[in-house]
Amino acid sequence: MKALVCIVLLFVVELSASGQSVWQGKRSSWLGAENQKNDIGIYNEEYKKFLGNVTTELTSTSEAIKILESAGFNEFKDDAQIQSGAKLYFVNRERAIIAAIIGTKLLTAGSRLIAAHHDSPRIDVKARPLYESSGFALMQTIYYGGIKKYQWANIPLMMTGRIDTKDGRRIDVSLGAKPDDPVFVIADVAPHSDAPLRDRKYTGVFDGEELDPIVGSIPSEKGVLTETMHHIAALYGISEEDFVSAEISFVPAIPPRDAGFDRGLIAAYGQDDRLCSFAALRALADIKSAVELTAIVYLTDNEETGSVNNTGAQSSFLTNTYATIAEAQTSAKFNENATRRALRNALVVSADVNDAINPLFMGLSEPTNAARLGYGISIKRYGRSFDANSEIIAKIRKMLDDNRIPWQTASYKVESGGGGTIGGFMSRENMEVIDVGVPILSMHSTYEISSKIDAWNLYRFFGVFFR
Ligand code: MN
Ligand code: MN
Repeated sequence: MKALVCIVLLFVVELSASGQSVWQGKRSSWLGAENQKNDIGIYNEEYKKFLGNVTTELTSTSEAIKILESAGFNEFKDDAQIQSGAKLYFVNRERAIIAAIIGTKLLTAGSRLIAAHHDSPRIDVKARPLYESSGFALMQTIYYGGIKKYQWANIPLMMTGRIDTKDGRRIDVSLGAKPDDPVFVIADVAPHSDAPLRDRKYTGVFDGEELDPIVGSIPSEKGVLTETMHHIAALYGISEEDFVSAEISFVPAIPPRDAGFDRGLIAAYGQDDRLCSFAALRALADIKSAVELTAIVYLTDNEETGSVNNTGAQSSFLTNTYATIAEAQTSAKFNENATRRALRNALVVSADVNDAINPLFMGLSEPTNAARLGYGISIKRYGRSFDANSEIIAKIRKMLDDNRIPWQTASYKVESGGGGTIGGFMSRENMEVIDVGVPILSMHSTYEISSKIDAWNLYRFFGVFFR
């Protein structure tokens, strides 16, 4: 009897050793991570706090500055600051930021850069927003990034951004985040009266022009628009025309939460791509000793609309900052070529979240090459219009394996999906770039889902990458 059990067991072991791919044998990162659970918890509490404070690239930049300054970073003002060991940050128009720890070697000898975007899909307010319909005051909006429009109806929205006036005032707007603040809601129709709408297509449950939240309902003798504008003027001291020079957005007024009985997941708005931008900032801020190669974090704006504008990854901000550092280090010997050499010798991780296998829609992924939550950070292959060189992927694999950081790969199902990142804009500068990230569920939704252990392992990888 005993012998028979042994033979059967041997047979089973033999089968699993020879009968499946090495990838099928990969296990959840949670298995064997018992001794890391405390650190994972602490890291993710801080991550949730960051997510709760950040709404757009504007608030992300100001939160990033807080994190950096509390870790001893100073704003760059003068070339004399560029010394080995210096911790500096460079701000571009309050919407993009570069933070760096200057290495013991010259920038031309190489650098380690992590780039991520810190804008997220949202709904922007148009230049002439206010209008009345059926006694309500509403705001005309235009959505930003690739959203599924129906998801934005009937959830609490908050208003965030800035208004700039002709007399030079800059007014910060944040309304709806505090528990006693009012919120804004895009009103869907009841199932009792929506028969004519029921055949709308999945992508057109709401039209773009229907994404207008209600912003007022109590009229004065002069009507609901005048009364609503009175409230706005009382709050911000602006006139209706000031909306022309404003960047105001509606984002979900839903705080980040743990998800699942085991609290293994984080549900929150804006994890694309603040999961990566926070991990990069934290990893840089946590470096305590000297680095050989200059360690840099670059957070960019406008990724969700093509990295446009002077604060997006297509701007020359990064190249100019490389030139600033290279020039300060080479002084009289500086020429354009020093910057080019510094760019040529940079190793860049373009960090962005990626789509995970969804347990309800398995067929949308090609499961052999799709990423799963809780199975490690993703090395992304065959992203739209950009892919890393194989020797760089090998180098990153070694970094990950040598430090026992779980990882997987991610590729989209052919002819079924796709997504770009900012990596291509840096490879255009002849930098060596690889796309890395972590998988999330419900990407671009009002409540994206990530795995705490993946976020933690991305932070660990960034720490290793800088050293
Ligand atoms: Mn992204
Ligand atoms: Mn995105």
